[in-house]
Order: sequence, then C-alpha cells, then structure tokens
Amino acid sequence: MAEKVIIIGSGPAGWTAAIYTARAALEPLVFEGAITEENRLAGTLPLGQLALTTEVENYPGFPAGNLENYLDDSIAKDRRMIMAPHEKRGVSGPELMELMKQQALNFGARVITQDIVRVDFGTRPFELTDSDGRPHQALAVIVATGARANYLGLPSEEKFKNRGVSAGAVCDGALPRFRNKPLAVIGGGDSAIEEADYLGKFASTVYIVHRRDQLRASRFMARRAMENPKIQILWNRTLVEVLGSDTDGVTGVRLKSTIGQPYLEKRVTGLFLSVGHTPNTAFLEGKLEMNEKK
Ligand SMILES: Cc1cc2nc3c(=O)[nH]c(=O)nc-3n(C[C@H](O)[C@H](O)[C@H](O)COP(=O)(O)OP(=O)(O)OC[C@H]3O[C@@H](n4cnc5c(N)ncnc54)[C@H](O)[C@@H]3O)c2cc1C
Repeated sequence: MAEKVIIIGSGPAGWTAAIYTARAALEPLVFEGAITEENRLAGTLPLGQLALTTEVENYPGFPAGNLENYLDDSIAKDRRMIMAPHEKRGVSGPELMELMKQQALNFGARVITQDIVRVDFGTRPFELTDSDGRPHQALAVIVATGARANYLGLPSEEKFKNRGVSAGAVCDGALPRFRNKPLAVIGGGDSAIEEADYLGKFASTVYIVHRRDQLRASRFMARRAMENPKIQILWNRTLVEVLGSDTDGVTGVRLKSTIGQPYLEKRVTGLFLSVGHTPNTAFLEGKLEMNEKK
C-alpha cells in the first residue's frame, strides 16, 4: 500500500516536515540517507549538515553559554515549567539533530536508513527506489535533501583528499596530522570563519585564504576572526595548487594573487574548503522543475 507521505532527507528540514506531518496523522516515512563511505566523504550522512558542526549558537531557545544562568535571568523561578538540563552549556549540532529526530519519532515518524536513488513522479502514486533497490510508493513526497560542500575541482585537491584536504573541520580537524601545525581554510563566509575558529583550537596558525579584500561573513563572525590571534587572513588570494607528496600528504599551498602580486606559498599540513554548497538534487534531474541553482 502507498505511504501517505515520504520525506527524503534527515536534516532540520526533514525532521521539521516529519514532526508536522506526524502530528497531522499522515504517518510519515523518512528516508534519512544511507551510512556509506561515499556519503561520509560527501558530507551527506544522516542528520544532515548541522551534525557536522560543534556548538550551534543561533538556534532560538538554545543560548550558548550557561543555560541555567540564562534561565535565571530570563524566567523567574516560580514561572519556570522546565528544568535546566544538567549540562551547563548551549546545544551542539549533533545533539540538536538527535533531539529533532527523537521528537519526530515520538510522534510516530518511521525511519529507513537508506538513500532514495530514483523517483518516478509521472505515475500515481509516486514511485521511489531506495539504495537497497527496494521500491516504495507514496501519495506525497517531501524533498528535504539539503546540500553538500563544494570543492574547487583542482587535480591536486582531489589527489590529497583525506590526506590533508577536507571540507569538514569538525569531523577531521582533531586528527594528529593537523595538531600544532599551520593549516589553511579557503573561503570568506560565516562557515569559513567557524571552521578557522574551530581549527585554531588545534593548529599553530590558521590562514584564511580569501579572494577579496573583505570577508563575506557576518560582522559578528568577521570580528571573531580578527580577534583570534591564531587566525591570519590572506587577502586577495586564490588557491592554485595543493602541494604535497605521496608520503606526507599535504605540505603546503600555492596561492595566486587576484590583484597582480607574485605567487605566494605557505607551508601547511591541512587544507579545509569552505566554498559553498551544492544541493543534493542530482537524482531529481528531469523529474522536477529546477532553476540554474538546481
Ligand atoms: C560546518 C557547518 C556549520 C554550520 N553551523 C550552523 C549554525 O551554527 N547555525 C545554523 O543555523 N546553521 C549552520 N549551518 C547550516 C545548517 O547546517 C544548514 O542550513 C542546515 O543543515 C540545512 O538543513 P537541511 O535540512 O535543508 O539539509 P541538510 O542538513 O543538508 O540535510 C540533508 C539531509 O538529506 C539527506 N539526503 C541527501 N540526499 C538524500 C537522498 N537522495 N536520500 C535520502 N537522504 C538524502 C542527507 O543525508 C542529509 O541528512 C552549518 C553548516 C555547516 C556545514
């Protein structure tokens, strides 16, 4: 029998859809994604992108810092219906995602740990195929497949993936090869600053390589970068080559100037890409209307 609604994806959007459809008695079935090496490398494991980060500071209701103090300041004790959790801090990305999932499960959402790899929206009910080859039918489908981190597409970057080149500081940043060593982050947005700030806990220096003379990041995050003594911003530079060897992996980066200065080389043992994201919609091409951003 066809499902009333199938939700594809298990980031914040997927669990939000699951909570609302479950409460509307639509008995949602969530495909949370498959746990495979390919998905790990692409950063598309279950629970989505927020599960790849540390503390989440901007989620309303989960202030960073000491939650008990925050409650003391904001709600008088006799008006409080909730107790402060035992841990006196804000929420981490993985915790927040586990909580969202649990909330959806509590309302009866069901979960299959597979990707959806094929869809046919030309028939009624809709037909979907999961990564185990099993067919599923649904009267409605909610696509919440999020996005994956971009790479620049340089051959040298591909060569050193997993040997110093990464798009996930939180997953990889604490590895021994990055400890007390200089590292580079490519990008200039909030994510790049967040990555650099996090890497600063382990690295000796973190270079942020940015192609312009101004960060794209929010003012708050830009200030964080400027105030971190371990972060050094290399303005008006782009990456042209990741330097390294078969034995050592990444040993440096070669940077081009965007304003006509000579090339610059920096010795680093790690390179972290933070250059935007691409929607996980390849399996929907030709099946749904898309714009140039997919
Ligand atoms: C390092 C980092 C730090 C961040 N920090 C913050 C922060 O502090 N605050 C903030 O507000 N935002 C932050 N973000 C952004 C935030 O994580 C995203 O905006 C949010 O996760 C998007 O949610 P989503 O549900 O749309 O998609 P995603 O989180 O991308 O989730 C998509 C899900 O779909 C699954 N999926 C994909 N394709 C398929 C398929 N074919 N079949 C089944 N499942 C599939 C994936 O496995 C994934 O679980 C951060 C992002 C990153 C990368």
